[in-house]
Amino acid sequence: MKIEIIDEDEFNIRFILYDAPIAFANSFRRAMKSLVPVMAVDYIDVYLNSSYLFDEILAHRIGLIPIKTDLSRFNMQNECVCGGEGCPSCQISFRLNVEGPKVVYSGDFVSDDEEIKPVYDNIPIVELFKGQQLMIEAVARLGIGKEHSKFQPVSICAYKIVPEIKIKENCNDCKACVEACPRNVLDSKDSKDGKIIVKDVLNCSLCMECVKVCEEIAIEITETNNYLFTVEGIGQLPIKEVMTKALEILKSKAEEMNKLIEEIV
Ligand code: SF4
Ligand code: SF4
Ligand SMILES: [Zn+2]
Repeated sequence: MKIEIIDEDEFNIRFILYDAPIAFANSFRRAMKSLVPVMAVDYIDVYLNSSYLFDEILAHRIGLIPIKTDLSRFNMQNECVCGGEGCPSCQISFRLNVEGPKVVYSGDFVSDDEEIKPVYDNIPIVELFKGQQLMIEAVARLGIGKEHSKFQPVSICAYKIVPEIKIKENCNDCKACVEACPRNVLDSKDSKDGKIIVKDVLNCSLCMECVKVCEEIAIEITETNNYLFTVEGIGQLPIKEVMTKALEILKSKAEEMNKLIEEIV
């Protein structure tokens, strides 16, 4: 198995996973979405709320604010020395003390720790009018997407099979396949001899339109064990850290499974 990165920026990455069974590709996708822990607000204490929104609506909105996460500094609460009570090793507090008139944004929260704060400062929470006040303490902890979507480190995490496209000898260059392809995968303009070439195999959706229109049965499309992944991060963790953490989690789950099998045998 091998991973080749096609393109990446701060929040997005496209990569090809080569030579993997489809079950592994799917497990990798699911692990990135639902098993990599990130921080999110777990509960809030409301000391004063004279805004037009109920406490519950504020709690829901605050819970969805993505929070920068440092996995080396925090424990999952169920694995923490505090036994899940909550301590500086497994949770962090944010305080909000504001008065209208103003729009309250995620950036108005004051964190106990300079490094652990909302990923974006400009997420609106509520508009306060003159005289309205909010005094809230929000407590965040690590969690996983399997438990609640607010703990998901990625908003998009999908893959598709990269096919192998073969143009056979009996192709008569009629170009019917080029015209039928809705994703501009095939072309003849860039080839020296006017022959059909595969211009952009990564764009192929395996719709098989080219195969349907080919009267010579000269085009062959087969599935491979290579997968093009498209991942969009939310920002709590760098995307590459999400990928490596997901692989570590899968590895430890596989080792655990092996141990169980050995015990049974
Ligand atoms: S439709 Fe078939 S015969 Fe025509 S160019 Fe495409 S592969 Fe060749
Ligand atoms: S399978 Fe569909 S997308 Fe792929 S090359 Fe053929 S027509 Fe284009
Ligand atoms: Zn703890």
